Amino acid sequence: MAAPAHRSVRIGLTGGIGSGKSTIAAILQARGAQLIDTDAISRSLTARGGAAIDTLRAHFGAAAINAHGALDRRWMRERAFANAGVKRDLEAVLHPLIGARCDELAAAAAGQPCIVFDVPLLVESHRWRMFVDRVLVVDCPFEVQIARVMRRSLWQREQVQSVIAQQAPRAVRRAAADAVIDNRVDDLAELQANLEALWRLWLPSP
Ligand code: ATP
Repeated sequence: MAAPAHRSVRIGLTGGIGSGKSTIAAILQARGAQLIDTDAISRSLTARGGAAIDTLRAHFGAAAINAHGALDRRWMRERAFANAGVKRDLEAVLHPLIGARCDELAAAAAGQPCIVFDVPLLVESHRWRMFVDRVLVVDCPFEVQIARVMRRSLWQREQVQSVIAQQAPRAVRRAAADAVIDNRVDDLAELQANLEALWRLWLPSP
């Protein structure tokens, strides 16, 4: 089905930690998509002077904010991982602010052929699935995710595993997809070719 000419095609890009979302987002951006990165929005909301800082301090106490005035991400992550209630409270503060910022950025990008929303937890959120036209899932085996995250950061295997355990199972993510990109092989040329084929399918030239 061709996209209506007057409206951007909204692609929700999602996948587990280290699966390759940012890599794919960069390729789609180079191809002409407008990128809206919800992790980057979340980081700016929780940086010094960010719109979420006062509410987070009021909610979780002064210990949640570090000496530079930003959210102490490690402090918060440890508590949110250990306690589902804390995770929910944190999401209740951040998600509406992230949603509002996405709305603003999407409005500013109106008229672009394609907007890609990079949303790690898209499948977990009914609201996100309603907000986008297509769900693009990047998929790879756990061992590849673990190896990539360990290679990229100083994280231990157990730390990556615990994040994976908190995210949607691969099968659930795949079931919610309009398209799945298999990114198990470290081959950027192949990834680029697959994305080019998808772009032509979803954004046919007029
Ligand atoms: P996170 O969930 O942590 O934000 P992500 O899903 O955005 O991760 P990326 O940052 O794109 O994943 O990829 C993780 C690492 O794997 C990066 O160092 C990236 O360069 C590398 N990588 C991903 N896909 C490929 C590929 N096809 N070929 C080579 N390297 C890749």
